[in-house]
Amino acid sequence: MTLTCVDCRASYPATLLYACEACGGLLEVTRPGTEPPGLDALVSPAVTLGECGTPLLPVRPGSLPTPARALWFKDETRNPSGSFKDRLVSAALTTALTFGSKGLVCASSGNAGASAAAYAARAGIPAVILVPERTPTEKMAQIAAYGALLVKVAGHYSNSYAMALAVARETGFVNVTTTFLNPYGTDALRLVGHEIYDQLGGQVPDWVFVPTGSGPLVKGVFQGFADRGGRMPRLVAVQAEGCAPIVKAFEERAGEVQAWGEPKTIASGISDPLIGYARDGTYTLRLVRESGGCAIAVSDDEIRRAMRVLAAGNGIFAEPTGASSLAAAQKMLARGDIGPDERIVCMVTGHGFKDFGIYRQMPVHEIRVEADASASVIIQALEGMGPPERVV
Ligand SMILES: *Cc1c(COP(=O)(O)O)cnc(C)c1O
Ligand SMILES: [Zn+2]
Repeated sequence: MTLTCVDCRASYPATLLYACEACGGLLEVTRPGTEPPGLDALVSPAVTLGECGTPLLPVRPGSLPTPARALWFKDETRNPSGSFKDRLVSAALTTALTFGSKGLVCASSGNAGASAAAYAARAGIPAVILVPERTPTEKMAQIAAYGALLVKVAGHYSNSYAMALAVARETGFVNVTTTFLNPYGTDALRLVGHEIYDQLGGQVPDWVFVPTGSGPLVKGVFQGFADRGGRMPRLVAVQAEGCAPIVKAFEERAGEVQAWGEPKTIASGISDPLIGYARDGTYTLRLVRESGGCAIAVSDDEIRRAMRVLAAGNGIFAEPTGASSLAAAQKMLARGDIGPDERIVCMVTGHGFKDFGIYRQMPVHEIRVEADASASVIIQALEGMGPPERVV
């Protein structure tokens, strides 16, 4: 196993190295031979909580406002801490322990921090988690519950990112921040591609929709399908209108992604302005283009509608970011960019429990009754709701 720069192709022995020493480019794990790796080939013994192997659920027919006949949800909410970040963190931490790390540091918009705190607790090592001060309270509560030191940093995510670099440098702890910083974490995301491929019986989907911050998940899906050697699905990097640096560059046909100004969106998991590491976005854009896909932004209202389709229409409780993939797929189906028979996979990346304050602002069917109320009051309310198709 070696580390190779994706830009200048300089290669390095496998150590805790976070960027190319020659050009500052991001590093990927490369292996001798052509055998695609399983997680066991990456890391052993793994610090594990039972991550990976998540279900691929077909959409309930009739639940989509703009129909699609072959659409699946890759339900990453089922991972141990409630997001796909568990895949990266388990691999990054296990590798770091073999290099002798005594603790971990992680900058996060919430989910990576919750995951890192969970796996640190599992490994019995200290964790320092840095999050923007306006992170959803549910995510901060989860981080603190796992016993980590929770550091609320003023301003947006990129400030937490910069501070994590400094803390890792001073402490010698491994930095498991889940941008492209830690190549061992990103490498484990290939399994997402492998799982989708296998779950569809080798029938490669036409489109995979990926909620995208800096883009390791895009790379994981890309590499996973590349490992399988077949056709490549078109990858769609989904961002929120209020923080869409990669979409902006895609639409302007620019070669490089520029950092975003002030993010403003309910999709906290992809609220990443890339300040100080816009190069990550440029690399992700390159992969998206190579796959023949695109980058698309969705509004907070489109995300809210998709959250309702997922929860009330399909029984999948997702945080806003997790529903952004479906919002984008619906938008492209409605515009006719995608035909109703094309095969679509939407990555549902994070659990609704992580941000359920948003659900409290959405319309629900709810009544309050006195203890001695007659059941007819409830039956009346039930009849007022209409058939399940109309509930969404
Ligand atoms: C981190 C995160 C993303 C973005 O993933 P990247 O690999 O950073 O692009 C998407 N969804 C959720 C729920 C996340 O926590
Ligand atoms: Zn380089």
